[in-house]
Amino acid sequence: MQNLWEDAAAASCSGELERRVYSSRLLGRDKSLVLHGGGNTSVKITEKNILGEEERILYVKGSGWDLETIAAAGFAPVRLDHLKKLAQLPALPDPEMVNQLVTHQTRASAPVPSVEAILHAILPYPYVDHTHADAIVSITNTADGEARIREIYGDEMVVIPYVMPGFDLAKLCAERFVAEAGPRTIGMVLLNHGIFSFGQSAQESYQRMITLVGRAEEYLERNQAWEFAPAAAEVRRDLALAREQARLRADISGVAGFPVILVRHADARSLSFACRTDIAVIAQQGPATPDHVIRTKRLPMLGRDVAAYAEQYKTYFQTHEPQAKERKTMLDAAPRVVLDEEFGLCAVGRSAQDAAIVADIYDHTIGIIQRATALGGYRALPAKDIFDVEYWDLEQAKLRKGGKPPAFAGEVALVTGAASGIGKACVESLLARGAAVVALDLSGSVTAMKSGANFLGLQCDLTSEEQFKQALVKTAEKFGGLDMLVLNAGVFPGGCRIEALKTEEWQKVMRINLDANLMLMRECHPFLKLAPRGGRVVVIGSKNVPAPGPGAAAYSASKAALNQLARVAALEWGTDNIRINSLHPNAVFDTGLWTPEVLAARAKHYGLSVDEYKKNNVLKTEVTSRDVAELAAEMCGPLFAKTTGAWLPVDGGNDRVI
Ligand code: ZN
Repeated sequence: MQNLWEDAAAASCSGELERRVYSSRLLGRDKSLVLHGGGNTSVKITEKNILGEEERILYVKGSGWDLETIAAAGFAPVRLDHLKKLAQLPALPDPEMVNQLVTHQTRASAPVPSVEAILHAILPYPYVDHTHADAIVSITNTADGEARIREIYGDEMVVIPYVMPGFDLAKLCAERFVAEAGPRTIGMVLLNHGIFSFGQSAQESYQRMITLVGRAEEYLERNQAWEFAPAAAEVRRDLALAREQARLRADISGVAGFPVILVRHADARSLSFACRTDIAVIAQQGPATPDHVIRTKRLPMLGRDVAAYAEQYKTYFQTHEPQAKERKTMLDAAPRVVLDEEFGLCAVGRSAQDAAIVADIYDHTIGIIQRATALGGYRALPAKDIFDVEYWDLEQAKLRKGGKPPAFAGEVALVTGAASGIGKACVESLLARGAAVVALDLSGSVTAMKSGANFLGLQCDLTSEEQFKQALVKTAEKFGGLDMLVLNAGVFPGGCRIEALKTEEWQKVMRINLDANLMLMRECHPFLKLAPRGGRVVVIGSKNVPAPGPGAAAYSASKAALNQLARVAALEWGTDNIRINSLHPNAVFDTGLWTPEVLAARAKHYGLSVDEYKKNNVLKTEVTSRDVAELAAEMCGPLFAKTTGAWLPVDGGNDRVI
């Protein structure tokens, strides 16, 4: 364990709550302690209320905040005396517990306090830190976990058997703490769940966490259960496997009832884990700590039989639901983690961000399983306990907090010519609707155009079939498939009359504007056919299709041919549930092509001011890249669900087109 405490940084904190924020973030920075919303911290502070009366307040992590990025506003201030009185009750149902927590806060805008607030309240120390440390759960998820913990810590830790988080756990901890804590006690282990440390100061509590978890790590090292070199495995990365991944994504989306992102992790560690001969045993025990279940489900799917996995999940639900206190509705039966000998690890999410969280959690789970296995056998909680947490309203509320998913959540779009102009605007419009976007461009600037889990920028020469196939392989690996294709890339050569038009120039324009798009459509077809909501193609055409201009023979002919190609595709691909529509923009000036100088020169040529020139259309309005992109994105959405083979101008009204 690395102690990240810095005296200077801590000294710059102005009060107890700020020091609480500081050391909470230190915990959050270490992924072997805290992952995606796991863990929580608190501090007890005496404050004067508006009447001048002193009150003891428990500032406890609010639900929805992450320790790594938590701020003072992320701590919910709850009246401590009330919490201690609640702990005396013989029982407290969850909805009433949450009601009590929320109604006994001193700040109306505070987040909902952690469900472990009462547990924090009953521990008689100002600072309390709780994590789901990998090393602790590695040791406690074994047959003799409790004995090992007692051997490591003796009377320095109170040991609590597994009880579901909430009021019952707080009560049990209160009883055990009184019965077992001695002068040397500095922490508490919750078997199959995690660890608490506490202290008089932020530093003491934090350092105890580091020391205690460090000792668990040393124990693992001493027992040859710490590091494992991955076995060498051959990684397949080809178009055939990419299509199989798209098929798997389609199957999982079908069972889930919504499109999912399926991210493949074929690194040596994931792949060699998936290929272990004992995988069917070690990966089928359950999660390392119960709250992972809402992200990963109880079990990963081994192999690719999604229907069998769904059946197994149904049986699990039907077995445990009758024992629940109130009736439950089954969640979707789709896996969130797939372990496959060829794919390695695949993470499933409703968005690329969700899938990244799943992958992070399972990556740590792999380490935990390997260590526990080396100690003699990984043994997770019984399915019943995991079911209770999976179907616990307070856990499901965490997922619901995200609200209604955006229109293209779980869907993947590929945009060509994406580094500038209309292509770049299409990337923005698709990302804004929740799609994961693959941006291709000849320019290398596309790779760093955006950051985040939802974006993949690839430099690609579309006249190279090989380069584009590689891009498709990467698309499948990163997101699982393809739902939408925006054909935007194209060239507009300088004006040239037919009598002077060279064959090479003509062919060059045809190669980029027409031939490349045929190849793209052909190669994307197997993927689009597997799109859970049907594939969609949008062709960025040109006003020159319905109304060609002199001096633009190659450009106009190439775009017209592309338009005709799209119409034939609409006829051929309808039975594959793929829609293809074109839009014809005109006079879009906010692109790299149109510098202020060029614009001024063109306006002057027509005897117009720049503003008049920009709005030289029936509606006297300026058409921007964003206008075109928004229409392109809408053409992929439900508004155009019943439209294919159509073309639509986006030009402010052009008398020649009308
Ligand atoms: Zn916990």
